Amino acid sequence: MARLLEGKPIAEKIKEGIRQEVELLKNKPVLASIMVGENAGSATYVKSQTKIAQDLGIEYRLQQLSGDTSEAALIEFIQKLNADRSVNGIIIQMPLPAAIDYKKMSQFILPEKDVEGMHPANIGKIVFGKAKILPCTAAAVMELLNASGADLYGREVVIVGHSEIVGKPLSLLLLDKFATVTVAHIGTSKAGKLEEHVRRAEVLIVAVGKAGLIKGEWIKEGAIVIDVGINRVGEKLVGDVEFEAAEKRASAITPVPGGVGPLTVTMLMRNLVEAAKLQQ
Ligand code: NAD
Repeated sequence: MARLLEGKPIAEKIKEGIRQEVELLKNKPVLASIMVGENAGSATYVKSQTKIAQDLGIEYRLQQLSGDTSEAALIEFIQKLNADRSVNGIIIQMPLPAAIDYKKMSQFILPEKDVEGMHPANIGKIVFGKAKILPCTAAAVMELLNASGADLYGREVVIVGHSEIVGKPLSLLLLDKFATVTVAHIGTSKAGKLEEHVRRAEVLIVAVGKAGLIKGEWIKEGAIVIDVGINRVGEKLVGDVEFEAAEKRASAITPVPGGVGPLTVTMLMRNLVEAAKLQQ
């Protein structure tokens, strides 16, 4: 039976380090969080981010804009926050109204205030192994792998999902650890090759958003499985991997919920403190 890789205890340890770093800063770090319009989903995120920020000694400044804000007005607002020296980091809450393109907007945040690690300047640094601010979910997965004790050197790592926030940055971070990385995606599935790649994985990371996509019987004996997916099935939240069957074969596996999730917000706060340090 696999060991459970829970995010919470790892997050608690990292938070302890963040608290100490916050105390060493000249000023309390400030995170500006832009929310455009009302949305129950992002309201929940904001609530949990506010609580964690408070716990870490970080000021969380919620900037609520009306639902009919234009892209031009949002850019102007971001530029004001860029120029505001009391603000160390800026995030844009998702989802945004249909008229606003998130990717386009996130490029207007100064790289040194981009605490989601999504600015091309920050993403680009990953290629050179020099990034100080990493995309939060990818960083959370790296922390889980680190806690699993896995030696990644020369290991067969298969990532399923090639999004900008998870699969693509992770592939580069894992290459830096000298893992042999395969990135599978919708094209791999359409070509009927997903199963054969997954069966080879000594470390499997799945970030798709489809419950039960990865069959438990595909998991290699002793593999480490990180399930990033979050899917609502009835009243329950589940990942992309068939958990019960997979945990019988894996050596370690993340639960959903309780695996990657609790670490992602912690990574955001760690990025904020890193940004504040760089600005000092
Ligand atoms: P995305 O929609 O941007 O990308 C999905 C990826 O899955 C793409 O690469 C696509 O090619 C691939 N894909 C789709 N269908 C596939 C199939 N049948 N076979 C193989 N690959 C397939 O998704 P995202 O934003 O990276 O999120 C992925 C999942 O991770 C979602 O469930 C999301 O909710 C979850 N997520 C969790 C956290 C967390 O903190 N736990 C953070 C971010 C995302």
